[in-house]
Amino acid sequence: MNKVELKPTTIFECFAEVNKVPRPSKREEKMIEFLLQFGKTLGLDTQRDECGNVIIRKPATAGMEGKPTVILQSHMDMVCEPSDGSFDFENLPIETYVDGEWMRAKGTTLGADDGIGIAMEMALLKSTDIEHGPIECVFTRDEETGLTGAEAMKPGFMSGQYLINLDSEDEGQIFVSCAGGCRTTATFHYEPQAVPEGMFFARLSIAGLTGGHSGDDINKKRANANKLLIRFLYQTMKQTELHLVDLQSGGLHNAIPREGYAVIAVPRAWKEQLAINWNIYRSEVEQEYEVTEPKVVLDLESCDAPSTMIDDATAHRLIMACQAVDNGVYAMCQSIKLVETSSNLASIRVDSDTHTININSSQRSSLLSARRNMSDTIEACFQLAGAEVNVGEGYPGWAMNPNSRLLSVATEQYCNLFGKEPIVRGIHAGLECGLFSEKYPHLDMVSFGPTLRGVHSPDEKLHIPTVQMVWDHLLAILKNI
Ligand SMILES: [Zn+2]
Repeated sequence: MNKVELKPTTIFECFAEVNKVPRPSKREEKMIEFLLQFGKTLGLDTQRDECGNVIIRKPATAGMEGKPTVILQSHMDMVCEPSDGSFDFENLPIETYVDGEWMRAKGTTLGADDGIGIAMEMALLKSTDIEHGPIECVFTRDEETGLTGAEAMKPGFMSGQYLINLDSEDEGQIFVSCAGGCRTTATFHYEPQAVPEGMFFARLSIAGLTGGHSGDDINKKRANANKLLIRFLYQTMKQTELHLVDLQSGGLHNAIPREGYAVIAVPRAWKEQLAINWNIYRSEVEQEYEVTEPKVVLDLESCDAPSTMIDDATAHRLIMACQAVDNGVYAMCQSIKLVETSSNLASIRVDSDTHTININSSQRSSLLSARRNMSDTIEACFQLAGAEVNVGEGYPGWAMNPNSRLLSVATEQYCNLFGKEPIVRGIHAGLECGLFSEKYPHLDMVSFGPTLRGVHSPDEKLHIPTVQMVWDHLLAILKNI
């Protein structure tokens, strides 16, 4: 394939400059220094806040003084992969190369997330021939590992009334909403008990599930390993004497759980029935998830008698609560095709040292009130079962503004330039815009950017032709807002 030209030249030059500066999340000191220097060298009003966020203000060009101030925003940190120490991200520059229509890095993340956004802002700040009203270029710290720069930003740091976030990954799509989220944990305390005589012990395991992001992938009908295990335990509990010895399932709060196992005891006389039921259950699961979980593996193994088990009353309350608790999509937005509210039952873990069973879950919604209601639903369910429940503080979402002036200008200019409508959408995950909307409630925002693939991995690549498209779109918005 022929190599494409790196256009617009200034943006790719700026991106090359950015990639010389080390900027791992939480260790952005060199990048902060670089940006401060960049703004001051241009003679522009340049400031940083206590947290390390940087703002560079540029006045309107001649004849554009009456325009409203537009904030352009990107994050200064990057995900550093591989993270096994084979590359020194603290000191070495990212080396890039062109592969057909794509730009990639040699063995590392490319840093186009969000270095290409930084480069566009730099190109605009440096420019002498682009028409624009007053602009504020904002660079936030540590987006990737906790949105801490956006979270720490004080009201008043930015003064514009429109904000364009340059951290989206699909050219032709304009993001107008994101989800807020919160974690809810539940803890059951149990009494270890002696195991009765005449029992058959089995280890039931589920593996090979697809998993994925607990927000962005929640509507893809991926099976939840915790829910699959609990469902079988609940069915068994209704039919025979069931004891629970151990349960270890799921992992990170923001991931759909891919695997887990439970160790149970049933009367020895019921051993065959258990195996028959498990086989029936396996075929039901395979059929229900034929399309989305082709690699699911359900296993049953006999195992030795353990010394103790969880007291039956607690085990049964746990199983009933986890059977009853909401999981997955709860509501869809009606203005755009997007999940509005969801919950993910992320993990269930028995801790035999502390005699507790710990459950972790996360709720998301673009509406704060709906997210609170979802967390209340989870809380009520586990409280009913006698667990101690803790609902976290959470972070805010960004609700779509149906009267957004910025969105209508962005849409109109996109149609003028490319002869087609952009896709207007939201994301069911956290973005910095959610935090801005809390502190700057009157800010009118959109988010877009050139096409990236494989972000957060060494396969990260930037689709070069889309940089010119996004740039043209951005300049048209600035000229016409
Ligand atoms: Zn990013």
